[in-house]
Amino acid sequence: MADKLKVTVLGCGNSTGVPAIGNLWDACDPNEPKNRRGRSSIVIEKCGKTIVIDTGPDFREQINRENIGHIDAVLYTHQHSDHVNGIDELRVVRFRSKRNYIPCYGNAATFGDLSTRFHYLFDGGNHALYPPIIDFNILGEAHFGKAQDIAGLEIIPFEQDHGTCTSLGYRIDDFAYSVDMYRLDQRAVSALKGVKTWVVDAAAYNQESNPVHANLRTIYELNKEIGAKQVYLTSMSLAMDYQTLLSELPPGYAPAYDGLVIEMDE
Ligand SMILES: [Zn+2]
Repeated sequence: MADKLKVTVLGCGNSTGVPAIGNLWDACDPNEPKNRRGRSSIVIEKCGKTIVIDTGPDFREQINRENIGHIDAVLYTHQHSDHVNGIDELRVVRFRSKRNYIPCYGNAATFGDLSTRFHYLFDGGNHALYPPIIDFNILGEAHFGKAQDIAGLEIIPFEQDHGTCTSLGYRIDDFAYSVDMYRLDQRAVSALKGVKTWVVDAAAYNQESNPVHANLRTIYELNKEIGAKQVYLTSMSLAMDYQTLLSELPPGYAPAYDGLVIEMDE
């Protein structure tokens, strides 16, 4: 079993996915397979452990595509539907892995929202066939910026400003994932400093400003301090064509695509 960190991009689309319903592709070339994007999520594998970040509406298809059956833990970035609505699929993950609970992690707002909307996964449904299946661990002030033992792996959660709410970014070794944010404060930048590979929200692309998502200018500015040698864009919208991005972006920057595998050297 490889000790090195392997990251697979399960999905790199924004909330609509690409194509959006109605087979809308907008600027994205329908003939480029890398433009077909599910909602944003990644899976991290190291030392035989498998951790998923977010379970969006495309979760079942993404997990099957990558042939993943067992999941040791789920990290949630925030409570928006495009990042959580596949949570019900964890019933099957739990059943397959013969455990009582799936360990999940996220901030208090995410716990509050999920435990209300999907209460039966937390408290049990109204029949013995539907036991509670989620063991939710709240990440708070004491955890941010510090390594946490999650499924035996050291993971550093940090807070990000997503405009309408606070999302969590996650760092593991020299890799970090910053989906759904429009700016980062100094604490977040400190947590990210020195990563080699950074997968980051770029949904605002070339918009002048956006109150929820980062644009390219913000990412370039942040990375001056963070120093990631390889940056992959995620949460990409219908305005972001894969080949156009490849030709526009500076060295060290690239659009992610669904199924992209990132192997980290230790
Ligand atoms: Zn969001």
